[in-house]
Parts: sequence; C-alpha cells; structure tokens
Amino acid sequence: MKIIDGKETAKLIKEEIKAEVAGIIDRGDDPPHLAAVIVGDDPASHTYVNGKEKACKLVGFTSSIYRMPDETTEQELLDVVTYLNNDPEIDGFIVQLPLPKHIDENKVLETIDPKKDVDGFHPVNIGRMALNLPSYLPATPYGILQLIEHYKIETEGKNVVVLGRSHIVGSPISILLGRKNNPGNATVTMCHSKTKGLKSIAKKADILIVAMGQPHFVTEDMVKKDAVVIDVGIHRVPSDETKSGFKLIGDVDFDRVASRTSYITPVPGGVGPMTIVSLLKNTLKASKKEVYS
Ligand code: NDP
Repeated sequence: MKIIDGKETAKLIKEEIKAEVAGIIDRGDDPPHLAAVIVGDDPASHTYVNGKEKACKLVGFTSSIYRMPDETTEQELLDVVTYLNNDPEIDGFIVQLPLPKHIDENKVLETIDPKKDVDGFHPVNIGRMALNLPSYLPATPYGILQLIEHYKIETEGKNVVVLGRSHIVGSPISILLGRKNNPGNATVTMCHSKTKGLKSIAKKADILIVAMGQPHFVTEDMVKKDAVVIDVGIHRVPSDETKSGFKLIGDVDFDRVASRTSYITPVPGGVGPMTIVSLLKNTLKASKKEVYS
C-alpha cells in the first residue's frame, strides 16, 4: 500500500508555478492576478479565501479580495462581477460559495465571464470540459487528476466507481475519467443516494473515488483488493487524541481500508491540499491565455 501524499505533491506543483511566475516577471510581464469575492462572514469561507491569498503570495501572483457584507444585494454583487469581468488587470476571479440565501448562486456564476472563470463552474466551461475542449477544470476534480498523473496511476480500461454526483466533485470527475484522454479512458460508474446495490458496485472498482460527505462510510468490505482509493470527504469530529479536541476524517474508514489498497489518499493531506493548487494552475492558464485566446 502506498500513500498518495497530496501535501507533498501540492508543494512540488507550487514550486513549479513559482518558478514559472519568476520567469514571467523576469521578462518584464505582469504576474498572474487572481481576485476573490466573498459575501458575508461565514468563518469557513473566510478561512478558504485567506488560504487562497496566502497561496497566491507564495507563488508570486497578485491577489485582490473583495469583501462584501452579508446584506449585499444580488444586484450589487452582479455589478462587482461585471466590473471584474471588464477589468483588464485581472486574469481570473472566483466568487466564494456559499452565498447568502437571498442571492441566486446560479445567476451569479453564469454572469462570470467564462474566460475569467478559474473555478470552472460556468456552464460554458463545464460544457467544454464534457466535450474534451480546452477549459478551466473545477478545482477538486482537477486536483484528483493531478494526483493520478503524479503517481502514474493507470486509468485506461479501468473500472472507476465514483460515490457522489455533486456538481463540484462527483459529476465532473466522472466526466473527466470517462473522456477519451489520459488520464481518462476509464469505464465510469457514478453512484448516488438512489443507487441500488452501491456496496457491491463499489467493490468492483479498480479506482474508487468517494465524495459523499458521509464520515467513514466506506469500509473494508466495500473495497476490492489492491484498488486505488481516493477520499474527497472532510469532516471535523471530536477527538481525545488531539490538543484541539477535534480531528479531520474522510468518507473512507482509512484504518480499516488502507491495508487492502494499492494506493490511498489520507485525510487530511490527500485531495484537500490539491484544490488550491488547481485554482493557481487555472489562473496561470488564464494569464497565458491557454484556454481562451
Ligand atoms: P454533496 O453533499 O454536494 O454531494 C454528496 C453526494 O453524495 C450526493 O450526490 C449524494 O447523493 C451522495 N450521497 C450522500 N449520501 C449518500 C448515501 N448514503 N448513499 C449514496 N450516495 C450518497 O457533497 P460534495 O460533493 O460537495 O462533497 C463531498 C465531500 O467532499 C464532503 O465531505 C465535502 O466536505 C468534501 N469536499 C472536499 C473538498 C476538498 O478540497 N478536499 C472539496 C469539496 C468537497 P444525491 O445526489 O442523491 O443526494
């Protein structure tokens, strides 16, 4: 069994990005510029946005954060999105989710110019991804692809089972691994809460990707011997083992499952650290006009 070390892989990729940005600055060009818009005071959202800003600084990007109060109207947010769409200084931007309930999330995401949609959530980018055209890939699935590539895990002809069909993880990773591409060319089964016989389907997987939001759902009886297991879930649970009184666990019961696998991602330190790296890669692509000219 080998651990897929997302923390180390993310560090290596950030170093590559940093070197490329140094080259851009040496040539006298502007570094990539990522902006983030955050509405309200959800502490988790602020933590994510601060993490993104820190990562931008580390690799030499310019970053701007637009912090807006909870009572921001939908129109005020749409005006900021339009402003960022038109600001030539900004290569890409994200609107941190979730938004306050009185704002229509889809309307906001659809107002973002697909050329600047480095979260890859705009229907145009999702459509381009499904058609195997250049696009910004959603951060978490893109992070999983990078781990698969980094660890040279073969996907062609493999049975991939994805547990979960969310728009941000389960559905896009299912599309990506089924594409005529490398990584890809897999036979993909996507499961959800209405799936019948989920356990026996999971057990046929050569590669099992779990994004359900159910702590320790996957146990050893659901995993084929020598399967690759990628756990996207993150849960903060009470623990006597840590000073803080909490620890992070995944959707997979790592201690019971790991010994059956050929490769497995831990939680924390697996998929999580790759998400911000993917956002940086998309922003770099935006600044180089690699996806849209
Ligand atoms: P969602 O809640 O949006 O989706 C969960 C999916 O799992 C749904 O499709 C749901 O089915 C399915 N599901 C839930 N329970 C069951 C069940 N008992 N049996 C079968 N299917 C079930 O979650 P996300 O995709 O947003 O996130 C999943 C997990 O990944 C969470 O723990 C989240 O915190 C974590 N996450 C981690 C990230 C990272 O960077 N590492 C990034 C994003 C998420 P249905 O559609 O039928 O309701």
